[in-house]
Amino acid sequence: FWIQQSTKECSFESQYEIGKELGRGATSCVFKCQRRGLPKTWAVKVLLKNTHRRVAKADIGVLLGLDHKNLVRFKEVFESKSRIFIVQELVTGGELFERVVNIGEYSEAVAAKAVKDIIAGIGYLHRCGYVHRNLKPENLLYENLSEDSPLKIADFAQSSVLSTEVDMSSVCGSPGYAAPELLKGERFGSAIDMWAIGIITYILLSGLEPFTCENPSELFKKILKGQYEFTSPEWDEIGVNGKDFIRKLLVVDPNKRLSAEAACRNCWVIGMGASATPLH
Ligand code: ADP
Ligand code: MG
Repeated sequence: FWIQQSTKECSFESQYEIGKELGRGATSCVFKCQRRGLPKTWAVKVLLKNTHRRVAKADIGVLLGLDHKNLVRFKEVFESKSRIFIVQELVTGGELFERVVNIGEYSEAVAAKAVKDIIAGIGYLHRCGYVHRNLKPENLLYENLSEDSPLKIADFAQSSVLSTEVDMSSVCGSPGYAAPELLKGERFGSAIDMWAIGIITYILLSGLEPFTCENPSELFKKILKGQYEFTSPEWDEIGVNGKDFIRKLLVVDPNKRLSAEAACRNCWVIGMGASATPLH
């Protein structure tokens, strides 16, 4: 793999030893790593510059200052001719959905706790002036394997400073989580993350995606109209507060969508009206 062919001039490799692969996406790879001579393990995300033209070390440098218990902490950034290396806190609790699938007694209350952590992290990111733009289940990681582990948001190296520019490049990858204003190529802001949280909550509670279609253009149409249902039997046992929370997030007009600030006060999120009865 390309990491082994890296040149010696890269200061990352002079300071760190690379370990096993932790995961990979379309244009990046994440490895365990260790600072030479020190026992602590970290994770390093390696981005190929030619596929991330817009990502500059300076942009990521700004993110080094972010510090919240529900965001994966960045430690330092290195740059070689062809790559960017983002050293970050190593989290070991696995992805959110793996836990949901494996947990025997998965309940609305457990889902609400996860959503509360996501909103706390996203609220902080928004207050700092960033939009994540890439919220989806595989970017939500538990810090450790304990039952009460915090959930952390990862993969925000490419998140953008709140902008009013139209930028269609952000639509690539996950149309299933893309807000209507993104699909329309309109101006967007922090509300796109809240739409994605609506989708994630819907999936957590039912195991289904709200918008599905074999045909991508039909799927786009449904998303643009905000056309989804609480299908039976999956939603039969789920309380009104959880449904109401989703209804306030999957709102086509971004100005009428719940903000992170309002969402963290929502009664379902704070644990009132989220049943502890196992769901599925
Ligand atoms: P991509 O942009 O390629 O999706 P991510 O930053 O989401 O890259 O990382 C890809 C995968 O690597 C994640 O889904 C996760 O399984 C794993 N991973 C990412 N960051 C960490 C980390 N800090 N600690 C442990 N595993 C991680
Ligand atoms: Mg990812």
